[in-house]
Amino acid sequence: MANASLTQQRNQIWPDDVHHRFDKMQRLGLQHIVQMYDYADQVASVITQVPGSQRSRTFKVKLSTQECSCGQWKNDGIPCSHAMQACRHFRVDPSVFMKQYYTTSAYLRTYSAGHFVPLPDDDEWDEPPFQTQHNPERRTVRRRGRDTTLRICNEMDRPQTRARQQYRASERAETSQR
Ligand SMILES: [Zn+2]
Repeated sequence: MANASLTQQRNQIWPDDVHHRFDKMQRLGLQHIVQMYDYADQVASVITQVPGSQRSRTFKVKLSTQECSCGQWKNDGIPCSHAMQACRHFRVDPSVFMKQYYTTSAYLRTYSAGHFVPLPDDDEWDEPPFQTQHNPERRTVRRRGRDTTLRICNEMDRPQTRARQQYRASERAETSQR
């Protein structure tokens, strides 16, 4: 993120891209249904429809530990859509779960330090004080020559078949025109 745009966003809690991600998760959350829940522990079962199918999936959201069984919340620190819907259900403001490092002030602190040294080519890296060890069990034997594909050829892969079909199609087109 460029410093100039961050300066403009200084008065926002989060920079624009973080805002967009937060809003998107809130929007997606509206498509989910909170089915079972435990108010004491703020645990919910959130049901979501699998796009393009009749199937649904259930995710377990636990607000107290900031976790969802989809794994996304733990992974990127922004409540996932399931968590957003659980927050709505429990009347909890989801912004309280946003990680501090997403705030504009955190970004500004990071970039104001200005100590970014470009990484040189790996030829210039120091030798590590250890030896990497080869695991012979993980060794894969490569055969000579080109790797063969796993797909089994069928008659459509033969150029003669395709040519014959195209010829027949053009013949059919001609007879229908008469
Ligand atoms: Zn989730």
